Amino acid sequence: MGAPKAHDWIMDLAAYVPGKATADGVKNPVKMSANESALGPSPKAVEAIKASAAGVMRYPDPASHDLIAAIAKVHGLREERILCGTGSDELLTLLIHSYAGVGDEVIFSELGFSVYPIQAQAAGATLVPVPNKDWAANVDGMLAAVTDKTKLVIVDNPNNPTGAYLPWSEVERLQKGLPEHVLLVLDAAYAECVTAGDYEAGEELVDRFENVVMTRTFSKLYALAGLRVGWMYAPDHVVDVINRWRMPFNVSNPAHDAALAAVKDQAYLDEVVSFTAEWRDWLTAELTAIGLDVVKSQTNFVLVGFPEESPFTAGECNAYLLKHGYIVRKFGVLPNHLRISVGTETQNRGLISLIRGFMNGSPDEAGQ
Ligand SMILES: *Cc1c(COP(=O)(O)O)cnc(C)c1O
Repeated sequence: MGAPKAHDWIMDLAAYVPGKATADGVKNPVKMSANESALGPSPKAVEAIKASAAGVMRYPDPASHDLIAAIAKVHGLREERILCGTGSDELLTLLIHSYAGVGDEVIFSELGFSVYPIQAQAAGATLVPVPNKDWAANVDGMLAAVTDKTKLVIVDNPNNPTGAYLPWSEVERLQKGLPEHVLLVLDAAYAECVTAGDYEAGEELVDRFENVVMTRTFSKLYALAGLRVGWMYAPDHVVDVINRWRMPFNVSNPAHDAALAAVKDQAYLDEVVSFTAEWRDWLTAELTAIGLDVVKSQTNFVLVGFPEESPFTAGECNAYLLKHGYIVRKFGVLPNHLRISVGTETQNRGLISLIRGFMNGSPDEAGQ
């Protein structure tokens, strides 16, 4: 009979590829590849992690009650509609596996967060990628792709890796056009970064309709990526579904306490939000001045387009940055682009000076 065999569709999967974390031969590389916060978490969150150490022999609260109460208060939401998870990745995964299986279809943006196709395929579902429009989700394309077999439409808004967003009117139009049986998942991982006036993360649609879920994370501007905490806001029937089979202790004590302290420290978050928007816009202006194509971003990263002709390609720039200890993100599906996360002031300035030198064709005299 041979060795145990997994589903064929699992064997067809390629594992998630995270952003690089090391640069050969460079001791303390500057990591601008994973959209982590440049400023780190609230000092109050760090204190909470230390204080929680004494209690780690205890299982955490399976209901994450205090954290959910704090999230509800800050966002003006109903507690019973909030669920916390081991990062929003866990919640997205649970949603996909709860609603889609063999023979079902899952719609998402062709350029988008790679967790959706990985998990949809792991569930045995059929992947329906839709080409983006102006780098954001393509509402008409997604609506045209819906069939009787469609179970989920998942939209990262703003989009990762492009940084573009859909205005609220477009999200509403998408929801309105979907049949009632299709679950619309709004992944608002970068909601805290958005400064555009016509953006909403999605709470309001969740409260108005039975087929909309919003997911959020503490990994980006709250800067707790290493602890793994996310949350979702969903109709009661969806919360009930996920509660039936999520891991009972999915948020550890330190993660719970740190996220609680972080969400209560909105003054700190406000500082991070202004810093991020300011440097994102600065990076955009500098890279544009260098002559590169920058996608207009509402996130804590920018997607930068390079010329196709050597020696100024994205691949060559990436290698050059790595050699100088700067790690950015290159995607196989975007051969002419690099995704660069907002860093500290020193890191941002160092990066621009390197890229300017590289594009001037005198790279070896540039930067450090
Ligand atoms: C970073 C990111 C997440 C967050 O994942 P966590 O599991 O909460 O760390 C979710 N969606 C998108 C689009 C992201 O870029």
